[in-house]
Amino acid sequence: MSVKSVSPGTLNNRYDSNVSRSAKAAPDIKTRKTRRVAAELEEFLGIPSKPRRSEPPLECLIATLLSQNTNDRNSHRAWMTLRKRFPTWQRVADAPTRLLAKAIEVGGLKNQKARRIKQILRGIKRRVGKYELSDLKRKSEQEVLEYLTSMDGVGLKTAACVLVFSLGRDVFPVDTHIHRICNRLGLVRSRNAEETFHAMQPLVPKGKAYSFHVNLIRFGRSVCKAKNPLCGACPLYDRCVYPAKERFAEETPRGARSKRTDADFMILHNLAVS
Ligand code: SF4
Repeated sequence: MSVKSVSPGTLNNRYDSNVSRSAKAAPDIKTRKTRRVAAELEEFLGIPSKPRRSEPPLECLIATLLSQNTNDRNSHRAWMTLRKRFPTWQRVADAPTRLLAKAIEVGGLKNQKARRIKQILRGIKRRVGKYELSDLKRKSEQEVLEYLTSMDGVGLKTAACVLVFSLGRDVFPVDTHIHRICNRLGLVRSRNAEETFHAMQPLVPKGKAYSFHVNLIRFGRSVCKAKNPLCGACPLYDRCVYPAKERFAEETPRGARSKRTDADFMILHNLAVS
């Protein structure tokens, strides 16, 4: 397993040095605004329930990798096929890359993901002597971030997903969608998801990282979409600082409210293999 030069930053720093200057201004105002936004999203979308059983960290890690650059439905199909064709991690590690790629092709980037999964499994076996990451339960959030992001192809978002979805820690993962929404709402002004991750950690209300993360994902799918956000139906309109919100409000079809068809489905809530 090669070690990357990118540092995950320090979770304990209230503001990471990578964050742009504007994100450092007036933390109290931003903290209060974040708390209100999180509460209003809970009113709008409900408090997301957690799965009764959390999956082991390695399962969560591989599933999150499969979810990169695709939607949760397709990555879930890829996950189920992978687990059914190769029921143990030993068999995944031993499988020819082309067969792994075939199993996960519905999730896109099949060759890259297949190579990465094998590489990660080999690295874990070398480091801990078995295909599991249960030792992470005893590590601090910072240690888990450092450990996981030292693996090729594992970024902060993936590592944070393992922390919150598998290990039950109060850490707030940030993907491109959450990065977009946090900037539109003016919670941060940051250039990328990594900066947003560091800027948001001290702002998210204690104990609310899971709920806020899940609700922002749902909100991004159903209302604050990347292209054509439904600003005219947005419960956070008055809090939003997105310059184009008035134009998008005018363009929002009358009566449009999120078609929430698939907005709630998340691969990390559905890893059990039947
Ligand atoms: S007003 Fe529009 S841009 Fe702002 S949060 Fe709502 S949907 Fe997103």
